[in-house]
Amino acid sequence: MAGAVVEPAVQAAVANALAEVRQRIGAACDRAGRASGEVALIGVSKFQPTERVQAAVACGLLDLGENRAQDLLRRVADLEGASGVRWHFLGPLQRNKTRAVAELATAFHALERLEVASRLSRQRPDHLPPLAVYVEVNLAGEASKAGVAPADAPALVDAVRDLPGLRAAGLMAMPPAAAVAADNRRWFAELRALGERCGVAGLSMGTSADYEVAVEEGATAVRVGRQLFGDR
Ligand SMILES: *Cc1c(COP(=O)(O)O)cnc(C)c1O
Repeated sequence: MAGAVVEPAVQAAVANALAEVRQRIGAACDRAGRASGEVALIGVSKFQPTERVQAAVACGLLDLGENRAQDLLRRVADLEGASGVRWHFLGPLQRNKTRAVAELATAFHALERLEVASRLSRQRPDHLPPLAVYVEVNLAGEASKAGVAPADAPALVDAVRDLPGLRAAGLMAMPPAAAVAADNRRWFAELRALGERCGVAGLSMGTSADYEVAVEEGATAVRVGRQLFGDR
């Protein structure tokens, strides 16, 4: 693998954090009567030193998330030779930055505009499977947050279904900042209900602050950064 040598202390810290997060996901699945294989753990590597990311890959964490196109390009170059890594783009994504995501990512978790979806579909290389797309939903109608209004999600999901380079994987949300994780249970439950109305199975929800509650409420992908890699 390219890049710096990983210090043993860094390797051990990331390995321990990863084991703990996996254990907590497993426990949350047990509480909810779910199989732990139903939940994908995405390690959010944004702004982290390459060494920590390499350590996670060495432990078998192969789903990684970035949120800026230039960072995705740099990360792919840094980890060149690390086989099997799947990149998840958590973006907001501007229309002039779609190519990197279309060519390098497995999934895009922050779709809010049909124009971006159309570009991604056109730019998706034929030799790759369709790009998995999650429509981001602004559940609480927060002015500071990205995402479509809940009422607009079904139409955008349907539009994605018509694009050959994309697969309508599901919905994604970042609920309001909460004092305690349990406060977000209602938002996660709301996203699950909306996913059922849209006819999609994927629910990308839960971060370091609240992924266990998200798993209890049906998350199929959790996006965990600081809990795995340390503070940014
Ligand atoms: C940064 C980020 C995360 C991870 O947040 P942590 O608090 O580090 O777990 C998850 N989702 C999105 C969209 C992000 O931008």
